[in-house]
Amino acid sequence: MTPLGQELARLIRDEGPLSVSRYMALALGHPRHGYYMKQDPFGAAGDFTTAPEISQIFGELIGLWAATAWRMMGKPAPFRLVELGPGRGTLMQDMLRAGKVVSGFREALTVHMVETSPVLRERQRATLAASGMAPVWYERIEDALDGPALIVANEFLDALPLDQFVLTPEGWRERLVGLDGEGRFAFGLSAAPEGRIARPASQGAVLEQPLAALETVATVARHVAAEGGVGLFIDYGAVQTGFGDTLQAMRQHGFVDPLAEPGDADLTVHVDFARMAQAGRAAGAAVHGAVRQRDFLLALGLEQRVAALSRRAVPEHAARLAAGASRLVAADRGTDMGQLFKVLALADPRLPLLPGFDLHRLPEQAAP
Ligand code: SAH
Repeated sequence: MTPLGQELARLIRDEGPLSVSRYMALALGHPRHGYYMKQDPFGAAGDFTTAPEISQIFGELIGLWAATAWRMMGKPAPFRLVELGPGRGTLMQDMLRAGKVVSGFREALTVHMVETSPVLRERQRATLAASGMAPVWYERIEDALDGPALIVANEFLDALPLDQFVLTPEGWRERLVGLDGEGRFAFGLSAAPEGRIARPASQGAVLEQPLAALETVATVARHVAAEGGVGLFIDYGAVQTGFGDTLQAMRQHGFVDPLAEPGDADLTVHVDFARMAQAGRAAGAAVHGAVRQRDFLLALGLEQRVAALSRRAVPEHAARLAAGASRLVAADRGTDMGQLFKVLALADPRLPLLPGFDLHRLPEQAAP
């Protein structure tokens, strides 16, 4: 068992089974043994890779998008460029470099990072050292927001803990993490049904309650509606609320059992974009999208960017640029990034429709 596993087993023996959200929060964020707290998990040598690590073009297009959004906001100065869960800092670095072409944008902004991992904070500091900016770090999003803001989050909501409920003949019961007869982690159900859920479903259906993600989205939406700006969320998930267990664990680029190695495997969930949009709207923001990552990046000029960069590149670099870009927008299979990933913006309702969202809006369907 992993060191965190031993600690969690002790906790379960003392206090009883853990909710899925508590298990997830500790597996990812335990101060000493949490997955993100002790290592840099990205890249070929790590456990998984993300869009900004695949291609510089991802961050560059989002940087240009942000600069355009800033102009549409009336060029507020100063304003905050905020990133939630910035990983290695690559997205911010690429955004800042691309944003240089829009006059006044860089001069008007200050950089703010919401990151709980000390290891990744150091990594972000190193990545941004040459940027000429002086980023400020925060544990909590509430503390990072003040005045007009552009808030960007790639693969952040998927790392936030959620709870799960299963429909049984006695009603909805909470899915819990306990120990089996041999002392291994196992899923079980709460003894008492959860009376507050009234959702028609078939027996065995799993309902996920992403409270932390919904709170994050609502905080962003409230802020931009009151003080101006936009929140941009990019993640994998569906635009129609469905049932099902989406908890997954990844290690060395493959799926593993989410209960097998707490602290040593990445744990994520799929994002329910219909509910995120609903929460954003309820908090006063206008909802743009969701659109597929493919449609968003193509609308922002991915192909033109590849062509422009390739003209100045040696053949191997040009080939890498083309391969990276096509991976971001591939949409042949449901698991391809361009199809699986969605982009949702929550904006100050005074803003017009933002670039990338005018076409291909996916029909969102919230739960009954
Ligand atoms: N956006 C990056 C990294 C995605 S991984 C990229 O696209 O490459 C998730 C990131 O969110 C990591 O930086 C992780 O440390 C951070 N994170 C996870 N849970 C968090 C929380 N509750 N608060 C702040 N940051 C968190």
